Parts: sequence; C-alpha cells; structure tokens
Amino acid sequence: MSNYVERVIELCKQKNPGEIEFHQTVEEVLTSLAPVCEKHPEYEEAALLERLTEPERGVTFRVVWVDDAGKVQVNKGYRYQFNSAIGPYKGGLRFAPNVYPGIIKFLGFEQIFKNSLTGLPIGGGKGGSDFDPNGKSDAEVMRFCQAFMTELYRHIGPNTDVPAGDLGVGAREIGYLFGQYKRIVDRYEGVLTGKGIPYGGLLGRAEATGFGIVWYAEEMLKANGEDIKGKDVVISGFGNVAWGAAWKLQQLGANLIAFSGPDGYIYDPDGINTDEKVDFLLELRASGKNICSPYAEKFPNAKFTAGKKPWGVHQDFGANVDLFIPCAMQNDVHMEDAKNIVESGCKFYCEGANMPTTNDALVYLMDKMIAVGPSKAANAGGVACSCIEMGQNAGHTVFQHEDVYAQLHQIIKNIYSACAKAGETYFGNKNALVQGANIAGFERVAEAMMAQGLV
Ligand code: GLU
Repeated sequence: MSNYVERVIELCKQKNPGEIEFHQTVEEVLTSLAPVCEKHPEYEEAALLERLTEPERGVTFRVVWVDDAGKVQVNKGYRYQFNSAIGPYKGGLRFAPNVYPGIIKFLGFEQIFKNSLTGLPIGGGKGGSDFDPNGKSDAEVMRFCQAFMTELYRHIGPNTDVPAGDLGVGAREIGYLFGQYKRIVDRYEGVLTGKGIPYGGLLGRAEATGFGIVWYAEEMLKANGEDIKGKDVVISGFGNVAWGAAWKLQQLGANLIAFSGPDGYIYDPDGINTDEKVDFLLELRASGKNICSPYAEKFPNAKFTAGKKPWGVHQDFGANVDLFIPCAMQNDVHMEDAKNIVESGCKFYCEGANMPTTNDALVYLMDKMIAVGPSKAANAGGVACSCIEMGQNAGHTVFQHEDVYAQLHQIIKNIYSACAKAGETYFGNKNALVQGANIAGFERVAEAMMAQGLV
C-alpha cells in the first residue's frame, strides 16, 4: 500500500475516534485506490483523499416529539453531506436505534462511489436518526417525521441535497417527511425520492435495488460463462432489497432456496419461487411479526433454523448453493461465515446490503471465489432510479415502468463493465470487481474535484 493511502487511513481513524464502520469502509476503499494515487501524484499534492474522507458538511440536531402516552421523547438527527463534486448530495435516511455518526458516515462515504458509478449527476450524502420505527404507531411515526423534517428542511432542496429511504425509512416515512417539507416551504418539488406513486414517485423505484443486484450478479456469471437460470441462490434478509431480488430471481428462472429474518433462516428445497410464497412473506413483513417460523408452518417442506443466518445452509442441510447474496445489513458475513460459504463449493458472491461483509471476510472470499460483486456497484440501482425520479419531478412528467426498467438494466450493465474494466486495467483481472468498483467510482469524482479547485 502507498504511504499516502496509509497516512490518510490513519488520519481518518484519529479524526473520527470510535467510528469503526466509517474506518472500515475508508480502509477498504482507500486500499484499492493506491495504484490510482501512484499514477496521479497530483492527487496527494491536492490532498484529495483527505478531502474525500472529510464530509463537506455535517449537521446533528435534536428531534423532539410526543409519544401516544403523552411522554416527551428526544432523538438525535443527522445529515452528512459528503461530496457534491458531481451533483447534489444524494443518499438515504436510516432510522434505527444503533444509528450514530460512524454508521451515517460509512453510508455517506460509500454513497459517493456508488452514485458516481451510476454515471448520473448525484453526489454523496446520508442521514438518519436513532429513532426506532418498530413498535411505534402510525401517529407516533408521523409526529417523529414531522419533527425531524422541521429541522432537516433548511439543509436540503431538489438541487442541494435529496434524501430517500434506507433501513427503517420506507414509503410511510417518506410520505410524512414529504408532507411536512411541503407544508414548511410551500413548494411542490422533488426534495425526496422513493415517494408514493400518486405524488411524484417513480414506477419501479420500489424494486429497483433488488432488480439491479440480480442483474449485476447475472453479468458476473455471464462474464464467466455461466447462466443465472437454474442456479441455486441464498439471500439474507427479507426487507425491500431482498424482496426485489427474490422477484427478479424468479423472473430469470433462478431458484431461491433460503432467506433469513430476525428469528432465524428458512431453507426451502422446493424454492421460494411462487407468488403465493412471496406474497405470504410480504404479508408477514408488513405485519411486523417474525417471518421465518410462520413460513415453515405454512410450507411444511421448508426447514426453519432458529437464531442462525443462512451462510451454513450447505453444512446444515447439504444444500447446493451457486450464488450467495447478503441483503440484510452491514457486517452480516464474518470470517467464519465466509469459510462456510467457500466450503459449500459456491463460486459467486454478490453483496446486496451496504457493506454486508467484514473486511477480513471480504478479502478471504475474493481470494477463494471466482467473482465477488461489491455492494456499492451491485445495489446502485436504487439510487440510480432515485435520480431518474428527480428528473421526472424536475420535468413535471411521469415515466412508464418499461422505460424505467430498460434504463435501469442498461445502467447496471454499464456499472458492471466499468468495474470489470478497472479491475482488468489495474489488476489484470476482470473479476477484481471490488477494487474495480472503488476505482471506477473514484476516478470520476477525483477528476471533478481536481477541475473544481480547492473547495
Ligand atoms: N439508501 C439507498 C442506498 O443505499 C438509496 C439511496 C437513494 O435512493 O438516495 O443506496
């Protein structure tokens, strides 16, 4: 690793003490940028990496609201505006009890490269709160969202910063946030994406992230002479991302055999590939209840394993797996899981969630698999469609499903090609997609930052 890269990683750790998720992504990304920085000594002179790892702006604010029992509640709110070199800040809001600056900065930093890879004009940002929507009434969620937006509105705008959803922020939350923004500024504008279809949302946005992941995996397989049709696939989670992925896998004739939820995981040797099964899961998810154990009760061939993730489905049931797609959350796959995955004989691994793999596990998988797809490339379909939604709103128009899917599919193919090309150029390996994604995402932002001077 170059001295410059090492120095900036250390500096970032010192300047952001205790923010381990942020350190993790900075270390992972910057390590792969070493050959680019060696080729461009002017980047060090311009302190490019130091600037890249320091958000342009970050706000932390108090969110005060009253729960249904009349008790006053106080949460923390955040928005980190990381990089606007190639467009307005863009990235979701996460509402979860474990949210703190380390999580928001990790997500915001990843978003810079992800958004750049889409080829669209969007910078990187992320925000959120330590508020937990689980177990809250609709009225409580609304009061929280209104209080949150009452501060956030002054920092965002359709050409400044455009938030969207992430964990804990779905259609309901976006609706309440949008309503409050509009009430305050008295303008109808596309300040949030992931909106409901009747009020400016984009057809196809809900499934875009999952569709994109599967299309990306399809490209990975194709480049190595394999067809996704008929492949046995394991995913983790069953949130928005996993749901879209399950749907596209079904369309492409792949065989989804396992998924997970908070209560454990399901192995269904018959495949989770009928509308009845997927609809049942969606119903369970909407009810806020556990999803795995009721699934096993309804479909008796399915096996439920309590308290475990699906990475050992080969060891537990002798299942064949051709492709693993972690779709739940960060650091879902640790070293021992990676060993199980490799031991299963599976050769392809495509990240769905943001940073679902610990750095040591990722290095191990990259060494043992034919190809590993990185999340910032594979899951970029969500934010790409968000940008299309921004265009739809700015143009006061409505795009059709087919157009959105066609654009999304092309964007994902372009992203895959950019990653493979950078892998080939810098590492002589078209399957070096993890490094390739970091490099391809970085190159565009670096060029823009250099052109714009010391800002
Ligand atoms: N939270 C999503 C992501 O991780 C979507 C961001 C957006 O649409 O702005 O990319």
